[in-house]
Amino acid sequence: MTQVTARRPTASEAAHDHHTQVTLRQFPYPYRAALAICSDIDETETAEELLEIHRFLNTTQPTSMGNGVGLEIGNSVYFYDDKREVSYFTHGERTRGLIVDLIQAGYIDCLHSYGDAAFSRDQIVRALDVLYGLDCKLDVWTNHYGAPSNLSHKFEYFFGACQGDVPGAEVYHADITLEYGIRFAWVGASTRLVGQSPHKHAPLSSTVFDRRYPLQSCVSVAKEMRKRLLGRWGDDRFVMLSRSRLMQPLSLRDGRTVHEFIRYCNHPVSVSQGATSRGLAYAISARALAHLKAVQGYMVVYAHLGKNKDCGHVIAHETQQALRNLAREHEAGNIYVTTTSRLLNYHHACQYLVWSHRQVQGRIEIFIDPPGDPAVNGWPVTPRQLQGLTFYVPDRNAAAVYLQGVELKALQRNPADHTGSESVTIPLSRLCFPY
Ligand SMILES: [Zn+2]
Repeated sequence: MTQVTARRPTASEAAHDHHTQVTLRQFPYPYRAALAICSDIDETETAEELLEIHRFLNTTQPTSMGNGVGLEIGNSVYFYDDKREVSYFTHGERTRGLIVDLIQAGYIDCLHSYGDAAFSRDQIVRALDVLYGLDCKLDVWTNHYGAPSNLSHKFEYFFGACQGDVPGAEVYHADITLEYGIRFAWVGASTRLVGQSPHKHAPLSSTVFDRRYPLQSCVSVAKEMRKRLLGRWGDDRFVMLSRSRLMQPLSLRDGRTVHEFIRYCNHPVSVSQGATSRGLAYAISARALAHLKAVQGYMVVYAHLGKNKDCGHVIAHETQQALRNLAREHEAGNIYVTTTSRLLNYHHACQYLVWSHRQVQGRIEIFIDPPGDPAVNGWPVTPRQLQGLTFYVPDRNAAAVYLQGVELKALQRNPADHTGSESVTIPLSRLCFPY
């Protein structure tokens, strides 16, 4: 990058440039929708199983299920577990090494609470010492059924007592966990509706109703309509759903703020059935992906890849096929598939980005300031957050992007997409599988 003395446009210049039609594209070029599979680590039993799941998801290497699909699909971790499942402190050195490698590579990107056997702040300090000491960065939190360290009171009737953000509670930790780097939290909001923060809105019934399962679908539609109505009437469990948003600021009980996000899952039997290795095939079926592309929205899919006891392979056969189809959608430039952390960071940057542009002798100059997040002050902007940001410009070869006055030299210049407009992108880097 080269330091330049770029001047921001004056208000009159910006107004004069109105006709240049520089706009922020909703998704990284060339995609028209975005999806992350957000898998809770529950019931994953061995390091070998975890590694084989990720070799299939993240590489194109030969696996016990054929060649992998090579997608950026992440996973989660907890530290204390009393059921002998994969967790940092209750498994051996091999599991610990694998967890650390996958966190450092970006493939474990969610802290799935501190586990159902974490009862005290001292235990949490010990876990954070590990994460700090090994330079392991996680910025997404997901509540785990039965974990006392869970955040927010909103869904306590489902999770049991959630004490992680209650000052004075034995397991209070929100202060040190947010200071460590957690920015985004799933505290229980879920929907069967395909496509959050969509470009186009579709009738609820069209994406939830499945004519192959008429009775079950009608029940699902009714449940979603009820949640939507309650959200409109101010029930804070369902406000995000009623507004079709992927994310919203959430005030914790200690006064701190995170960005809460909603997860999607759907299945004719039940949502919990959809959130298994086998059920994922329905949740991300070709039908669901077609709806996602039609509404041009986001989807963070609720899953448990380790709930696979009824499967012949570590990933159910029908889900292997669904993941291969998802990989084709990604390769064709239709659906951006990435980890939960990368997807949320991207969406957050789009929401809060402060940018402007001016035209100088036929050349477009775009100026980006750090995302000005009104909900959480003091979050440092990281270059990673800005990856994938795409601006429509009149001429891709006559455009420059400046980040805090510094020109980004490695700009990706894109031909016209389906809208007929050319664009420039801050390039996306690929995660690198450690094995
Ligand atoms: Zn869980």
